[in-house]
Amino acid sequence: MYFKILKRGSVLLLLVFLFSACRQQVDKPQYPLHYSDAIFGTTFTIKVSKLPSSMTGKRLRKQIKRLLDNLNGQMSTYQKDSELSKINANSSADWLSVSPSLYAVLKQANSISKLSDGAFDITVGPLVNLWGFGPDPMSFVVPDKAEIEQKLKRIGYKKILFDDEKQKIKKLEPKLYIDLSAIAKGYAVDQVGLLLEQNEIADYMVEIGGELKLRGHNIADKPWRIAVEKPTAGNRAIQKVLPLTDISLATSGDYRNYFELEGVRFSHTIDPRKGRPIAHKLASVTILSDTAMKADAWATALMVLGAEQGFNLAENKSIAALFIIKTDDGFAEKASSSFIEKLR
Ligand code: ADP
Ligand code: MG
Repeated sequence: MYFKILKRGSVLLLLVFLFSACRQQVDKPQYPLHYSDAIFGTTFTIKVSKLPSSMTGKRLRKQIKRLLDNLNGQMSTYQKDSELSKINANSSADWLSVSPSLYAVLKQANSISKLSDGAFDITVGPLVNLWGFGPDPMSFVVPDKAEIEQKLKRIGYKKILFDDEKQKIKKLEPKLYIDLSAIAKGYAVDQVGLLLEQNEIADYMVEIGGELKLRGHNIADKPWRIAVEKPTAGNRAIQKVLPLTDISLATSGDYRNYFELEGVRFSHTIDPRKGRPIAHKLASVTILSDTAMKADAWATALMVLGAEQGFNLAENKSIAALFIIKTDDGFAEKASSSFIEKLR
């Protein structure tokens, strides 16, 4: 049914903190569309501040629901008959036809894999599963080295070839298993945004599982106010509130989906070069970008690279990134130049 990650639910790294939320219940203005539900094993919230007179909230909800269901049918690894599941099950070495949406996501993933030198890799699924973050119940055990080595041989983004003209892909490894958990939610956010814009809606917030797209203003006619969570397990607290408009944003973190053994935390973000969960002092990365798809994938890529390498790459490639780093007495923030620039 769902994109893979989301099984254990709480991956929502951002709380949406609206200007109006602080007001008294009595004079709280109502959004003409305020739609929350579950999809991809997580939750989503869509708010529209102004609805054109030709459109009703009910019709819009239906259109959004249909779009999200279609995307689930294309990109879910939980749904056995999804387009992606069929590709994963297909061990043929032939060129395979792919729908335009799935092709766009695979291409974007490939581009971020190249730019991050393999830190971002959608073929990492067998290792995600081995460490217990996949569809099977969590095992809470550290797999042995031989098993890790064996899975490492099967992965690698270079094992997917692309034919742009024919929109086909080819698997160089028959057992290649593609997992779009770190990019598909972002793509879905962009597509909902597009749908709203096609309906002449210019003031909205779309959020799926913590990945967001914002346009125009909130109901109080102010920029949207988005809270970046303090990267602590348990009680949710706000690290920072960002006033934002006309931008997308995503956060990756090690503090929601993980297990601990003898004081060591094993996160659901896997370093594809080591075959192990990331192990460093970086607690979360928040990305601002023109698309939620890029923001989503870059957040995971920089999370894998860590505070130093990740920061250097962000500076190099002008990626707007906010790093929250664990210190002895709390957290330190480090923002890339692009991030500072975008908030100006
Ligand atoms: P986060 O909010 O922490 O980024 P996401 O749900 O967006 O969480 O992405 C994490 C998921 O991505 C993991 O559960 C796993 O399925 C997949 N994943 C883990 N490591 C990588 C990686 N290095 N590259 C791409 N996908 C990954
Ligand atoms: Mg993400």
